[in-house]
Amino acid sequence: MLGMFLPNEHVKSIFDIKANALKERGIKGIITDLDNTLVEWDRPFATPELQEWFQSMVDANITVTIVSNNNKDRVEAFAAPINVPFIFNARKPMTIAFKRALQRMNLKAEDVVVIGDQLLTDILGGNRIGLHTILVVPVTQTDGFITKFNRRIERSILKKLKQKGMIQWEE
Ligand SMILES: [Mg+2]
Repeated sequence: MLGMFLPNEHVKSIFDIKANALKERGIKGIITDLDNTLVEWDRPFATPELQEWFQSMVDANITVTIVSNNNKDRVEAFAAPINVPFIFNARKPMTIAFKRALQRMNLKAEDVVVIGDQLLTDILGGNRIGLHTILVVPVTQTDGFITKFNRRIERSILKKLKQKGMIQWEE
């Protein structure tokens, strides 16, 4: 059970995930979380650096879909101006939104990675349908209300994973 929370990879930030490296591994698509993965949860728009990151994926023929548990207003306002397809109210770790994203991108699970900052939603949900999961360090230490609650559970899961020697990285 604990293994379901274990990401396949762990990086410091979204910018450590490079289009060329993904392409070399045969990755054709990305399902990414929004809040505290791409930008701070309370930042409404993409930064210029992030827009370049999205462009690098377009250039490498890697399709990106934003899959967020946040509401339509938040996700649409962020994703529409940069032309990135999105799914809001995703209810991760339920798998339905991940499956819908795969369908829309017309890609198989083995060709897609999931990126997110939360074990309880992004990583658990991605692992449940066999997607390659990449955990990023949250962009900011503050969180919205529900996430604050999730973080408490997450800390205890991380502690157990460390005790069992299943993860090596330091926070
Ligand atoms: Mg998040």
